[in-house]
Parts: sequence; structure tokens; C-alpha cells
Amino acid sequence: MRSFLLGHSPRSLGFVPTMGALHEGHLSLIEASKAENELTVCSIFVNPIQFNNRNDLHAYPRSLQTDLDMLEKADCHAVFIPAEGEMYPSETRIRINFEALENNMEGKYRPGHFNGVSIVVSKLLNIIKPTRAYFGQKDLQQFRVVSQLVRDLSFDTELRCCPTKRETDGLAMSSRNMRLTPEERVLAPKLHEALQMVGRLILSERNIIMARKKAEDFLNKAGIHNIEYLRVVDGDTLEPMQLLKNSLDEEVAICIAAYIGDVRLIDNILITIPPSE
Ligand code: AMP
Repeated sequence: MRSFLLGHSPRSLGFVPTMGALHEGHLSLIEASKAENELTVCSIFVNPIQFNNRNDLHAYPRSLQTDLDMLEKADCHAVFIPAEGEMYPSETRIRINFEALENNMEGKYRPGHFNGVSIVVSKLLNIIKPTRAYFGQKDLQQFRVVSQLVRDLSFDTELRCCPTKRETDGLAMSSRNMRLTPEERVLAPKLHEALQMVGRLILSERNIIMARKKAEDFLNKAGIHNIEYLRVVDGDTLEPMQLLKNSLDEEVAICIAAYIGDVRLIDNILITIPPSE
């Protein structure tokens, strides 16, 4: 990868890190990168150290040939597919802790996850040295963690957060969706419906606890019982909120993680709340 980049020395280099099993969400990041960089590199690496659950790692979908076809069709200039032993020739000893940023949601339910994410992102940024790197809002907490990492360690890369691509029924595109049975696929869009319900209720009733309760009841009635979290958090710090702050143009994120069958899905929406009269 390094010698390829030395041979090209582009004026600007865009980078899209992925774990493969590509879909239109990933392709939208590639498009965003191509629009503002001379050269775009995508990486495909299912990073073992960010999985806290062995079964989840083994069940993670892999479809390398289809991925390569999609990248070629999308005119992505290069793809980096390192082997596990190349990324981790020996066990990593470093531990990165993001404190309040990882005390809730993904950080809480997937212990060690953001340590693994920040190590692999650091390695990839060091190898590729991109001008800009592209991430999806779908993994909002990941974006906040990576932003903190890049600031704290002075990586010379600008980060971009791209909007979540959805299926026509609202389901956030995800590599994990291909593991859903047809019955589960029908249920899955309810997660996004629940997020929108919380958003509407907060705007009209201004009561976070009640909004969460109603949306949880809605999901339970639909047959979704295994909800890990349905949280309203500060859009910037991601700290959990029980009450609105009533500040000017307050941005909140509504985030969910739930199991549909044995597939764990996450989603979020950001909304701006005007102050009450
Ligand atoms: P993954 O392969 O799931 O690790 O995702 C690689 C990148 O694609 C991450 O920055 C994700 O946030 C982003 N991504 C995943 N799904 C979507 C989506 N539906 N829309 C936009 N970006 C996405």
C-alpha cells in the first residue's frame, strides 16, 4: 500500500475504512471521497480486536469478490485488504480509553470495542496517511471516538461524517442486514420508526423519559423485546439526557441498539430542538 501510494503521490487522498460486505452506504462514502480527492482508497478488514463476542466475529458476513466488483464499478482507485497477521504481527498491548465518551451505548455494551476500533483506525491512518477519511453517521459514537483520537494524537487527517443511507422502508443499510430472515427483515425497520417516534414526541411533549417509554412499548408490541438501549443523548458529547437543556438549537441524538433474532442492529437520528417559549 505504501509503495503504491509513493508511486502515485496524489495531491489529495481520500480514505474509506470498512469491514467489507459492502452496500450502498459504503459506496456513498466512496462517492463523497471521490468528489473531493484526487485518489480514493478503501480498506476491507474485519478487525478481530473490536469484536467483544467471538460468535459475532465468526458470523460477520464476508463477500470479498462481490465487494471487489462493487469497488471496481464505483471507480474506487485502490483497495487495501491486509491479512490479520500483517495488521497484528503480535498481540497489541496498548489500551485506549475514551472515558465519558464510551461509558454508555456501544462502549458500555461492547467492552473493549472502541479500544479495538481506535487501534485499527490509528494503524490504517499511519499506513495510508490520507488527507481526508470518511465515516458514516450510522456509527455516530464511533465517529465521535475517532474524532477524539485524531485530535488527541494529532493525526494529519480531516474527518468527514456522511449521512446514513437507508432502504426505502427506513432500515439503515448494514452488512448485518443480510443475516436477517425474511420475517426478521420485516421487523427491522421498526427500529427507525421508534427513533422517529421518540423525535416527534420530544418535539411535541418535551419529555424524554415518556418518549422513550412509548417507543419501547411500540417495539415490544411489534415483537422486538431485546432492546439493549434506546437513548436520547447530547448530540455532541453523547452524554445521556433525562431532561432537555432548553438551550438555543439544542442538538440531540436518539440512538438504539437491539437484537432482531440473533442479529444486533444499531441506528440513530440527530434532531435539533428549538427552545420552548
Ligand atoms: P463497517 O463496514 O460496518 O465497519 O462500516 C464502514 C463505514 O461505513 C463506517 O464508517 C460506517 O459508519 C459506514 N456505514 C455503514 N453503514 C452505513 C450506512 N447505512 N450509511 C452510511 N454509512 C454507513
